[in-house]
Amino acid sequence: MNQAVMPRQNSKSPFEFTGGHLCLNFTNTVDNRKGLNRKELLTSYADLLRWAEEANILRMKDAGRLQNMAEAAPGQAKSALCSALQLRESLYALFSAATERRAIPGTALSVLNRAVQRTAQHERIAEDRRRFHWQLISPESSLDSILWPIARSAADLLTSPDLENVRQCASTDCAWLFLDATKNHRRRWCEMRTCGNRAKARRYYERQRSEL
Ligand SMILES: [Zn+2]
Repeated sequence: MNQAVMPRQNSKSPFEFTGGHLCLNFTNTVDNRKGLNRKELLTSYADLLRWAEEANILRMKDAGRLQNMAEAAPGQAKSALCSALQLRESLYALFSAATERRAIPGTALSVLNRAVQRTAQHERIAEDRRRFHWQLISPESSLDSILWPIARSAADLLTSPDLENVRQCASTDCAWLFLDATKNHRRRWCEMRTCGNRAKARRYYERQRSEL
């Protein structure tokens, strides 16, 4: 079996879903994005499948089919992973620019628009007991189908009033993005347990030192 597409079953998940929105969770698949020990969490197509399953955008039986396809065509799986990383970095560039009120990078927007247009070719409106919803057409037959719901999620968030509540973690290394759904809109950390506590510990340590 090709190393690049081998599933890492039964190991503890490296992924966290604290972003409050699918596309933001996707941008948070890099640990310590701005730190010295930056860590890429999507290093193979199998990682991407695992993330998609944990994010609930991929059914187990579809994941199995995509895994088989990836093993049969490792070159295509690698290129699907490259497209995923390119989309992820474009989303990070777009949302971080929006949160910091910087100019929106045109190339990142073009990457998203291309993904949105590809996605639209694979979507339809389905009906179930007079309720309508978006449905993907044969996601199990395309290696990059994982990107379709992510592109739609990003398009939805960028065009929604919620864009104002997208924040970047206040930790200098982390830079994870999240949707601040708190009442007073003052959430500062991707997760208090990790980044928030680290910052608190650092402040405590600095205070102790300055008192010496
Ligand atoms: Zn953080």
